[in-house]
Amino acid sequence: MTHYSPVIIVGAGPVGLSLAIGLSRRGVPSTIIEKAEGLEPYSRAILVPARTLDIFEEWGILGTMIDAGIYVPQLRVYDARSSKLVIAIDFSDLKAVTQTPGFLFLPQDRIERLLLEAVRSSQLSSVRFGAAATGFQQTSEGVTVSVQDHGQSYEISGRFLVGCDGAHSVTRRSLGLSLLGKTLKARVLIADVALSTDLELPTPRLALTASGPLVLLKFDENRWRIVGVVERDETEEEARSEAGVASRVRALAGDVPFRLLWSSTFQIHNRMAQKMRVANVLLAGDAVHLSSPAGGMGMNSGIEDAHNLAWKLALALSRNDANVLDSYETERMYAMKHAVEPTSDVASNTLYFAPWPLRLFFISLFYVIMRIKPARSRILAMMNMLSTKYPPSDIARGDARWVGRIAPNCAITNKPQVRLLEGRWGKAVIVCYDVAAKPAYSDVVYVSAENGQVFRRTWKVRRPFCAVIRPDGFIGWARERPSAGHISDAVKFASEIS
Ligand SMILES: Cc1cc2nc3c(=O)[nH]c(=O)nc-3n(C[C@H](O)[C@H](O)[C@H](O)COP(=O)(O)OP(=O)(O)OC[C@H]3O[C@@H](n4cnc5c(N)ncnc54)[C@H](O)[C@@H]3O)c2cc1C
Repeated sequence: MTHYSPVIIVGAGPVGLSLAIGLSRRGVPSTIIEKAEGLEPYSRAILVPARTLDIFEEWGILGTMIDAGIYVPQLRVYDARSSKLVIAIDFSDLKAVTQTPGFLFLPQDRIERLLLEAVRSSQLSSVRFGAAATGFQQTSEGVTVSVQDHGQSYEISGRFLVGCDGAHSVTRRSLGLSLLGKTLKARVLIADVALSTDLELPTPRLALTASGPLVLLKFDENRWRIVGVVERDETEEEARSEAGVASRVRALAGDVPFRLLWSSTFQIHNRMAQKMRVANVLLAGDAVHLSSPAGGMGMNSGIEDAHNLAWKLALALSRNDANVLDSYETERMYAMKHAVEPTSDVASNTLYFAPWPLRLFFISLFYVIMRIKPARSRILAMMNMLSTKYPPSDIARGDARWVGRIAPNCAITNKPQVRLLEGRWGKAVIVCYDVAAKPAYSDVVYVSAENGQVFRRTWKVRRPFCAVIRPDGFIGWARERPSAGHISDAVKFASEIS
C-alpha cells in the first residue's frame, strides 16, 4: 500500500516538528515518520534565543513556550562563591530587531512536547511514531520512502522529502553525503541536578577554575544544569559519576544536597555536509550540520533551517516550480559558515581552549566591551542569532547594506496598532518611506514622517526608501530613491515570492 503526502519529513525532533508547523501555517500538509515510539525525555538544549522566539511568535506558539519556561529580558550572572552579581546583560538594545529581546530557558523535551501539540492541533500533519525510514527513491516528479512500521513495510510517496533525522541521518547517508569538518579536543560535562526546592540561589552562577568555566543554571521548576569541562586528570566516567557531579555542585552552590538526574560528556563538533539538497530531497538540522553546544546553537540553527525551508516548500508546491529551493542551500550554508560556526568557535575557543591567563583576559575584555553600546549590540545580536545574513540570490536582490538581513522593526502609519514585526504577514510586505508612487500590491506599509527619524536611524537609510520584506522577515529587495520603475519591480518581486 502506498500513502501520499506532499512533504514527507523523517524525524520528529525539534527540527522536523518545526518544519511541519511552518508548513501547516501555509496550508501545506505533511507526514512525519519517527522511528522512536515517542519523544525523547532528556533536557538537552535549554536555551532559546530571541530569533527562535520571533519564529515561535510568527507561528502563534510564543505564548505557550514563554508560559512553560523562564523568560529573562536581562541575564544576570552571579559569582558562585559570593553570590555577588558579576555582570548584567540587558537585551533591550535588541528592541529594534526583535519583538522578544531576551532568552527563554526551556528544556528541549518540553519544547518538543509543545511543538508536537502545535503540529497535532494544526490537523494538517500526521506523526507516525515507531515508523523508521529505511530508504527512498526519487524521480524528477517526487520521492518514495520505504517505511518499517511495527513490523509492517509500506511506502509513502510525496513531492519532497526532508531528512530531519539527526546526526546519524539515514537520509543524508543515502545521498552519499557525510559531515565534514572538525571535532575539537575539549571534553565537556553536562549534568542536570535537582536541588532542595527551598534553596534560593541566584543563577546563572559562574566559577572560573583553572581548567575552564563552571556554570550552574536553573532552567526549570527544580532542574538545574551544570556545564563544565572534564579535568585533565579525570576520566569521562569519573566526571559523569555522582562523585564527579558532587564536587561541581559544591563549587557552585556550596554544601547542599542534590539528586543527579542525568549527566553526559561530549566532544565539540563543527561539521557540515557538502549539500543540503539533492533534487527533491532536502536536509535540515543536525542531519546536515553539527555545532558546539557552547554557542547554544544546535537546536536553534535547525529551527532556523525549518523556518527558511517551510515557506519555500509551500511556494514550490503552489507554483509547481522547485527553483526557489536552490536558495535554501545557498542561504542556510552561508549562515552556518558565517554566523553559526564563528559564534560557536569563538565561544568554544575562549571558554574551553585558550590558556588560563588568556581566558581570564578574554572574560575581562568581554565585561569591558559589554559597556560599549555599539559593540554590545553586535555581541547580543550574535548571541541571539539576529545577525544572520544571507548572500545575494534571486530572492535577495540588490543593495547588500539591507538585502539579506533581518528587517528591523518600525512603527507603521496605515496600521497604527501593529509594528512591522508584529504583523504575522505570512507573505511578502512592501515598506515605503516617503515614496511618491503607491505600489499596486495588497500588503504595503507606510512609515510616517513623525516616525521617520527613528526609521532612518534604525534602518540606516536616507529617504525616499522602499523595501520588500520576504515571508521569513528578511529583506529581499531594497532601494533608496526608487523610481516608478523600481516600485513596479518591487511589486513584481513581492508577488513572485508570496
Ligand atoms: C547533551 C546535549 C546538550 C545540548 N545542548 C544544546 C544547547 O544548549 N543548545 C542547542 O541549541 N543545542 C543543544 N544540543 C543539540 C540539540 O539537542 C540538537 O541540535 C537537536 O536535537 C537537533 O535537532 P534535530 O531535530 O535536527 O535532530 P534530533 O533531535 O536528533 O532528532 C532526529 C529525530 O529523527 C529520528 N530518526 C533518526 N533516524 C530515523 C529514521 N531512519 N526514521 C525515522 N526517524 C528517524 C530520531 O529518532 C530523532 O527523534 C544539545 C545536545 C545534547 C545531546
